[in-house]
Amino acid sequence: MKPTPGISELIQAFNLKTDVPMAAYTRLNVGGPADLLAQPGTRQELVQLLKASRKLSVPVTFVGGGCNLLVSDQGIRGLVVVTTKLKSGIRMQNLAGKRVRVIMEAGERLSTVCTYAARHGLTGLEFCAGIPGTMGGAVVMNAGTASHGIGELVHNLEIMDLKSLDIHTLEKQDLVFPTAGSLWKARSSWASHWIWLRVTRMKSNRQSTPF
Ligand SMILES: Cc1cc2nc3c(=O)[nH]c(=O)nc-3n(C[C@H](O)[C@H](O)[C@H](O)COP(=O)(O)OP(=O)(O)OC[C@H]3O[C@@H](n4cnc5c(N)ncnc54)[C@H](O)[C@@H]3O)c2cc1C
Repeated sequence: MKPTPGISELIQAFNLKTDVPMAAYTRLNVGGPADLLAQPGTRQELVQLLKASRKLSVPVTFVGGGCNLLVSDQGIRGLVVVTTKLKSGIRMQNLAGKRVRVIMEAGERLSTVCTYAARHGLTGLEFCAGIPGTMGGAVVMNAGTASHGIGELVHNLEIMDLKSLDIHTLEKQDLVFPTAGSLWKARSSWASHWIWLRVTRMKSNRQSTPF
């Protein structure tokens, strides 16, 4: 990436890392350098970074836990946004009867959410136990087993339109989770425009006594 004054300002303003080997951010520990890399900790920080990057036409790639990524030795051009710090705690809302919603952001680890569910006596997520990565990655990949995918549990999602940088909520009926491949492949019109910012309201169908 050409070191223009604009890019230098972007690096300084957002404290971006440069020429970062992606091997450090993928489960396979392989992959060449990302030109620029950020790990925003808040949605506000992310939005400001994306706005500034868009002004400079810097391409953006999102990475969660890097558990489903194989990055070539050539690396990734533009900005890589690693989402693993985008988390603000897991919350639970009680609904009618024994139903609950569990709300978290995209950077939350799936394993942390499974532990949270177990600690609070929630059922429904058992098939996710042992699957590495973040909630954002899990939703994009519809992570799960041969018989269950995380999409079954998603009640709604907040996403960001990369063109307008507006945030929208998608309801369950707006989403078609594929049994193979990523959600982006199933809805190709979103592929270049949308990202997962936050996963909200995972639904557990039963609540038993906490252990
Ligand atoms: C040992 C091992 C066991 C596994 N077992 C299973 C299994 O049993 N079942 C299963 O389904 N999978 C399994 N996987 C694959 C992997 O764990 C899942 O695909 C997981 O959901 C990937 O999450 P991640 O956060 O690592 O996503 P990443 O690998 O970082 O990203 C995957 C895709 O999602 C996109 N993405 C990630 N986060 C965001 C975001 N917030 N916004 C926009 N796009 C985003 C990335 O750009 C990329 O295209 C396994 C992997 C390993 C290494």
